[in-house]
Amino acid sequence: MEDIRNIFGSMVFNDAVMKDRLPKETYAVLKKAIAESRNLDSSIANIVATAMKNWAVENGATHFTHWFQPLTGATAEKHDSFLAMGVDGSVIMELSGKGLVKGESDASSFPSGGLRATFEARGYTAWDPTSYAFIKDNTLYIPTAFCSYNGDALDKKTPLLRSMEAIDKQARRILGLFGDKDVSRVLPTVGAEQEYFLIDRSVYEKRPDLIECGRTLFGAKPPKTQEYGDHYYGVIKPRIKAYMQDLDVELWKLGVTAKTEHNEAAPAQHELAAIFASANIATDHNQLTMELMRSVAGRHRLACLLHEKPFAGVNGSGKHNNWSLATDTGVNLLEPGATPSNNARFILFLCAVIKAVDEYQDLLRLSVASAGNDQRLGGNEAPPPIISIFLGEELTGLLDALENETAYEDKGKSRMEIGATVLPYLMKDTTDRNRTSPFAFTGNKFEFRMVGSTFSISDPNTVLNTIVAEVLSGFADVLEMSDDFVKSLGELIRNTISKHKRIIFDGNNYSAEWEKMAEDRGLLNLRTTVDVLPYLISDKNIELFTKHRVFTESEMRSRYEILMSGYCNTVHIEAATLTGLAKKQIIPAVFNYTKRVSDAANSKLSYNNVLNTELNFDLEENILTALSRLSSGLYKQLRGLEDACARYGENTELTDCARYCCDVILPRMEALRAVIDQLEAVVGAEDWPFPTYAEIFASVY
Ligand code: ADP
Ligand code: MG
Repeated sequence: MEDIRNIFGSMVFNDAVMKDRLPKETYAVLKKAIAESRNLDSSIANIVATAMKNWAVENGATHFTHWFQPLTGATAEKHDSFLAMGVDGSVIMELSGKGLVKGESDASSFPSGGLRATFEARGYTAWDPTSYAFIKDNTLYIPTAFCSYNGDALDKKTPLLRSMEAIDKQARRILGLFGDKDVSRVLPTVGAEQEYFLIDRSVYEKRPDLIECGRTLFGAKPPKTQEYGDHYYGVIKPRIKAYMQDLDVELWKLGVTAKTEHNEAAPAQHELAAIFASANIATDHNQLTMELMRSVAGRHRLACLLHEKPFAGVNGSGKHNNWSLATDTGVNLLEPGATPSNNARFILFLCAVIKAVDEYQDLLRLSVASAGNDQRLGGNEAPPPIISIFLGEELTGLLDALENETAYEDKGKSRMEIGATVLPYLMKDTTDRNRTSPFAFTGNKFEFRMVGSTFSISDPNTVLNTIVAEVLSGFADVLEMSDDFVKSLGELIRNTISKHKRIIFDGNNYSAEWEKMAEDRGLLNLRTTVDVLPYLISDKNIELFTKHRVFTESEMRSRYEILMSGYCNTVHIEAATLTGLAKKQIIPAVFNYTKRVSDAANSKLSYNNVLNTELNFDLEENILTALSRLSSGLYKQLRGLEDACARYGENTELTDCARYCCDVILPRMEALRAVIDQLEAVVGAEDWPFPTYAEIFASVY
């Protein structure tokens, strides 16, 4: 295989290419504009556009597209060729500065939650120069933000970029107080670990539920799934390895730092992690990763399932969002430092995250809410969707000592006074792990594990950045006013720990006791998307997001509507798919098998007459009785679900519609599924029209 260094970024208009192809002054202006997140004036934009176009054409591109991230959670693109007609009628290749920087888009069919009426549907896309352009499928992709003409954000990139500005500003206030004056930018860094399933295309194509809904709506539990734990980190099958290699190459070409890959806990489940980058780039790259995971699978006659819970009874898929803060001088602010004073700064940032997570549990929970993730979080087999933080023994002990002003066992190294307490050197300890925690400190970053596998990581990071910015802003307010920095810092740390330590939990988050304990601590336990969505438009959260200019109130209200109606759509499509399959394929299968058993009984009966003996019909009787009982159950549950769907229209308010989907339609789908799963166990293999879980899990060998 070719050297990775030759492949990596080969299709990216990255810094090296810019430096090589742009006039020195243009390059300098562009770099500065990127660093300061400023717009380019049109003369510079024209030069950059021409260089970009020439590079793209030389690399085989015929088209360009403004690539954006509407509120569907997917990415969107509209391709234009570089084709233009010269004055003499000749064909020329063109990309103007204006074409690079701004795109007009009708785009009226994207969800806007009432922000745009169709008569004023125009939106525009604006180049995001902080995320490099790249070539994919002979098209130059220009990462952009998507806004309405009034400036309302209609996408997931805009608020993320705004939240990055907010945390930059507040974090630098804190750094200033510690005397770190040379930092000109603080960036949230993010590394996403992506889980997915791979199954053979042939079984996928026979499961309309997987095709339409991304998850199986029925399927009996097979005898063996993940009991032996033999799939986790198991030997990677050659066919899967070939896929992973192909995927790596495609990702590397686009500058995505695909790094770690392994088999996950559930059969047919795998994971890919990239090396961390700025939150914005990591988000763009994760979108690309999901897209390429699917398309590369097609080439290998595989299907890639990104749904949070494609199969009941085995682990679902998530996306671990590793998050930290880095300065442009190369310091990780969540890394315990080499000196006690760096540790004071570290402890303060740590406290900021603790306070933010405790005060805005609702927003973090909200950022991972969807009908799909509801199947994974808070379901019968899953941990409860309660937010808590894991810190590990060493840090928990240290915070205890700080709060109570007791001495901390510091392994004999020197200390610094913080108020009345002492602060030791810290050892970065990465051995301490708790896999059940939804929000775990892992040595120098936090790992948010509740994110669903299909999600754009934009929302969780927008929330993280904003809530931590808010707390840092409060901290800075206090410390800037103080005339005794060290004393105030000590008090602030102590108060924060004692007020917010309820959010810290190092035990088993999957245990039943935790649910009870969390309730006693007053922590939120928001089971479903419908429970959590209203928090998006609470006064407290509107105040937060508007204060930091991440969302306007109308943007939040529109997002609320989009999320609510998206939830209803998902449940509806699932219910309609399930009833359709029951009627068109499952009922006929039951008929066929019933006929097969009756025919068998009849022919046996004729033997009876010929042989003139008493043959035994226990088996036929039992099967036919079971089939008859289950058919009547099937009929009853199918009617129940269809009736429930028919009465959906009686709800007028969007919140009632969603509540109805959650409380009435989903339970009826479950009831119907239960009967179908029993039928699957009775009906013979030849008549059952769908690949079973066992067949699906074994489909790649
Ligand atoms: P795990 O045990 O969770 O697999 P890894 O060390 O493999 O831990 O890291 C997981 C992810 O965290 C990777 O994507 C990695 O790049 C990312 N990561 C590491 N350091 C940081 C950081 N400072 N900020 C954000 N993400 C980080
Ligand atoms: Mg991890």
